[in-house]
Amino acid sequence: GSTMSATILDGNKISAEIKSEVAAEVAELKAAGLRPGLAVVLVGHNPASEIYVRNKVKACELTGIYSEQHTPPETVSTKDLLQLVESLNRRDDIDGILVQLPLPKQVDAKKVLLAVSPEKDVDGFHPMNVGYLSTVRPGLVPCTPAGCMEILRRSHIQVEGAEAVVVGRSDIVGKPVAMLLTNANATVTICHSKTHDLKEVCRRADILVAAIGRAGMITPEYVKPGSTVIDVGINRITDRAEFEKYFAGDAKREASFTKSGSTLVGDVHPKVVEIAGAFTPVPGGVGPLTIAMLMANTVKATKLRRGNTVQSIVGD
Ligand code: NDP
Repeated sequence: GSTMSATILDGNKISAEIKSEVAAEVAELKAAGLRPGLAVVLVGHNPASEIYVRNKVKACELTGIYSEQHTPPETVSTKDLLQLVESLNRRDDIDGILVQLPLPKQVDAKKVLLAVSPEKDVDGFHPMNVGYLSTVRPGLVPCTPAGCMEILRRSHIQVEGAEAVVVGRSDIVGKPVAMLLTNANATVTICHSKTHDLKEVCRRADILVAAIGRAGMITPEYVKPGSTVIDVGINRITDRAEFEKYFAGDAKREASFTKSGSTLVGDVHPKVVEIAGAFTPVPGGVGPLTIAMLMANTVKATKLRRGNTVQSIVGD
């Protein structure tokens, strides 16, 4: 076989780079009398959500962004949450509002997300921001898709003119990443569960983005040799047989799986490393970018709403 091996696109490194640039910008804004502020709303006690929020708050501390947490109980009503969001909308010292998902089932999540002022919508989920993205106007772009673009940009991967295939069409990842690639002049195909001949379509891709939520689904047969593969998927596996399917012979993984009883696998099969030109690992690929882009979005929101003309450091 070939001895060529794929370039690993190191998300931890790129994320650290962005966070340090954000920190410099925050310092500059503070010197000009503007302190960026992020409010996080965390309902109930979902353990995964608690970890995400903790990491977001930590990143704020690292970058100098002011942050505060609001933690209504699991039993909160839609009305109470709307009141909280509206009070945060009115505060001049809060630039970004993040409502951590999922929300409990009695809450009308769409209504709550729609209530976040588009100017403070650092997740980029508000229809106003979706519209700005699709019409190429300045706005707030969803963090994970924006992170995918930063990985490509900072790794000098040619997007303009490239054949890009996105597997997944969610509002949170698939659709916005497809829109960003289109805006960056790629030729984009969006695939989903009803796509015929998915393998053949994927094999056309110079840039393949997997945002599916199915462990290891993108095997080497889906991948054009030498192409760039961006793996958004985060799937936790606990089954030994499944572990062997992906990581047999990987001593480092083996040790951590044995120790903790689980490991993370992306939507892309680890064997794709043997055929891709460049790829994002899981963990340590797209994941770390999400929080870095949240920090960048908070700064962008500060500048868009009450800022000056300082040029933004992150793309678009
Ligand atoms: P969704 O479940 O909302 O969307 C999944 C998409 O994949 C859908 O469009 C679905 O198609 C498509 N799909 C499912 N099965 C197949 C199949 N067999 N063949 C082709 N397409 C298929 O997931 P999200 O977009 O929210 O997340 C995707 C993945 O990314 C998850 O693993 C999630 O954990 C991860 N994620 C990671 C983040 C990060 O790195 N920080 C942030 C957000 C998500 P259809 O529309 O037809 O149902």
